[in-house]
Amino acid sequence: MNLSQEKLLSDLQIQNLINQKDYVSATDYLFSSQLISWSLLKKNYDALINVQTKSFWFDGFKLKVQFNLERIKSTSANVEESSIANRNCFLCTENLPEEQKGILLGDNFILLTNPYPIFPQHFTIAALDHKQQKISEYFGEFLELSKLLSPKYTLVYNGPACGASAPDHLHFQAGNRHFIPIENDIQQLKNDFGNVVQENESFTATFINDGLRRIIFLESVEQSLMEKSFRKILREYENFSPADPEPMMNLLCSYDNEFGWYLIIFLRRKHRPECFYKNDPDRILISPAAIDMGGLIITPREEDYFRIDKELLQKIFNEVSLDQNTFSLLKEKIKAKLS
Ligand SMILES: [Zn+2]
Repeated sequence: MNLSQEKLLSDLQIQNLINQKDYVSATDYLFSSQLISWSLLKKNYDALINVQTKSFWFDGFKLKVQFNLERIKSTSANVEESSIANRNCFLCTENLPEEQKGILLGDNFILLTNPYPIFPQHFTIAALDHKQQKISEYFGEFLELSKLLSPKYTLVYNGPACGASAPDHLHFQAGNRHFIPIENDIQQLKNDFGNVVQENESFTATFINDGLRRIIFLESVEQSLMEKSFRKILREYENFSPADPEPMMNLLCSYDNEFGWYLIIFLRRKHRPECFYKNDPDRILISPAAIDMGGLIITPREEDYFRIDKELLQKIFNEVSLDQNTFSLLKEKIKAKLS
């Protein structure tokens, strides 16, 4: 680990909040402090207030499209291995912008304000060590961090081959809870399209195919049950999706004192839709990751924002989601394993 103390916000107030384990107030404090000391950050969060959005209603759920100019780098990021190997990793603390400061979350992660926001408050949680993005080994920590930042924030994970812009550096994101449409729609989706494969007092697993996305939704108050079930799901899923370095998925996770964890797993078959690689005027720059899959689709180009309609969204989501047959097969396998 190579962490310079200069990268940490370390005044008395933040120390007190962290000592009290009040991480929500600590992140708020970091956010306010960074807005004052980092002009790029202030400029980009100010711009976010005026971003255009439009909504499309599907059968029982909503998709929103956000035209967000500042996300161009992330949307069009070259994540080929050769290109990753030749750049300075932007999540390694020694490469962070001079103005950027963070707070430690436990022993292994630093929480940083994201300077290219989608959420009103958007954070990146990066591992202190430069190591491969891979959820299986860090799922327990992912759950713990979502509890630590509850109830205000939702945690986001993008697999290395389907949305992570730094596939070589383990990281999560955190953003305001209920900002992503699916967080408000999930119970409705469960009722309308869900197939509950296991349900008891302390754990529920539901497969959801809403015609656009293929989702596994886990609910539990017990961390050990969440971990055990997730591992079983991952092991089965490896037989159906390329497992190098892990089967393709995006995760959204939140924690509630009364209901415990909500984990939404989006199963994927590819990272980017065909239209991403076409030449203009047929090109549409959409690169779906967890937030997009959750129903907040980011377009960094205005022409794409205007062109997007329901039909196109339906096509793109089906193209990048696990196909329906495989989803059904996987459901039967996992149902047998969980019971
Ligand atoms: Zn790194």
